[in-house]
Amino acid sequence: MSDHPKEECGVFGVAAQGRDVGRLCFFGLHALQHRGQESAGIAVSDGTHVMVQRELGLVSSVFDEPALRSLTGDSAIGHVRYSTTGKNKWDNAQPVALPRGDGLVALGHNGNLTNSDALRRRVTDLGHELRATTDSELITALLAHEPGSLLDAVCNVMPLLQGAYSIVVLTEDELVAFRDPNGVRPLVLGRIDGGWVVASETCALDQVGAEFDREVRPGEAVRLTPDGTEGRQAMPPTSRALCIFEAIYFARPDSIIDGQAVWQARHDMGVQLARESTPGADLVVGLPDSGTPAAIGFANQSGMPFSEAVVRNRYVGRSFIQPDQELRATGVRLKFNPLESVIRGKRLVVVDDSIVRGTTTRRTVQMLKDAGALEVHLRISSPPITWPCFYGIDMADRDELIAVGQDEAGIAAAVGADSLHYLTLEGLQRAMGRPADGYCRACFTGDYPIPVPDASGKERFEATTGAAPSR
Ligand code: SF4
Repeated sequence: MSDHPKEECGVFGVAAQGRDVGRLCFFGLHALQHRGQESAGIAVSDGTHVMVQRELGLVSSVFDEPALRSLTGDSAIGHVRYSTTGKNKWDNAQPVALPRGDGLVALGHNGNLTNSDALRRRVTDLGHELRATTDSELITALLAHEPGSLLDAVCNVMPLLQGAYSIVVLTEDELVAFRDPNGVRPLVLGRIDGGWVVASETCALDQVGAEFDREVRPGEAVRLTPDGTEGRQAMPPTSRALCIFEAIYFARPDSIIDGQAVWQARHDMGVQLARESTPGADLVVGLPDSGTPAAIGFANQSGMPFSEAVVRNRYVGRSFIQPDQELRATGVRLKFNPLESVIRGKRLVVVDDSIVRGTTTRRTVQMLKDAGALEVHLRISSPPITWPCFYGIDMADRDELIAVGQDEAGIAAAVGADSLHYLTLEGLQRAMGRPADGYCRACFTGDYPIPVPDASGKERFEATTGAAPSR
């Protein structure tokens, strides 16, 4: 229904004695399904062999009971993936696995590298034939050629990588998690009965009954065993650049990112939004589900009542919505139905967290007006997106972004709304209660914390490097 950036990827890993690690991985990935719905995979090691199973589709459709029963061992990693159009092929599903010595190395990656072209040349020079089109395969190939322990190999390869990465990697006898020196994507460690867990978000720890221990530090590589963890600061942490969109939209609202409750952060963005611009209206509504916390915050601050105005059909999978616009329009009708009895004759404040192209927003506004809304005032709980993301998020090309070259009045007219206001950058930071340094905000400012080869458009980037973001 809403017009969001496309999700990225989720990773999970577990090392635990006497536990059903394949099943734990399955549940962990299930909790991370919002981060990627196009493919899912699990790799398990029993100490002598690594077995990988990956397929296109949702976690629950990729793994049935017989599959889970076959995934036995002491350690496992898993991955859910979102990919761009045309790149959603089986070869790009993860974990990526390549021979390493007498065994296998399997890897799951959330993020995107910005020096894939240089790495591609390096990997080709090593004699490796690339099968997939993801930068994750490049990292796996580099690890496959590094001798020694997996932790040593990771520490040797990390300085070669530029960009955003939160990664889990598994061999027969080691499970290692590592994170880029800017800490763009989240990665957390948790204790579980019998061992240790690593995950993109704390909601996955909750799902498997693990207790949050700490974040993987930017630039750190951590080996997980049933008995404990061994962390090594493989690279000095540089300026912290946690993706601020994790708090705005990507992370699940019940997760804690960098010590901050995501639901509360979104609620406070809504409060700040109401402080900045409250129109005369009758009712505040959020677009399910991601706009709801900010809509509640807006209602609390403005004193206007909050109501549901749209019912979502929860049985239409998110992967059902295809990236092309015609199918997106069909998806709106399949997934959402307006509550005419609530809407008719009312002036609505509609709170959503972001607008990318505006196409879906326009259809949503029309749907609410068709259901009898007298006025629709859009309030967006993030600043205008005016730059593409090079760190693992599909934001569309710059010339497709509705906020490029248009002010709020122009965008309101383009989507058919009676008024529109975006949360200011200052307001966003105030709502977060933290200073701007420490966050990547490049899609709002164009100020990229990690060098990108060409900031003018994602397609050109992909064409030059030949690499698709692995997310
Ligand atoms: S450009 Fe935007 S979406 Fe990408 S990492 Fe930075 S803040 Fe996140």
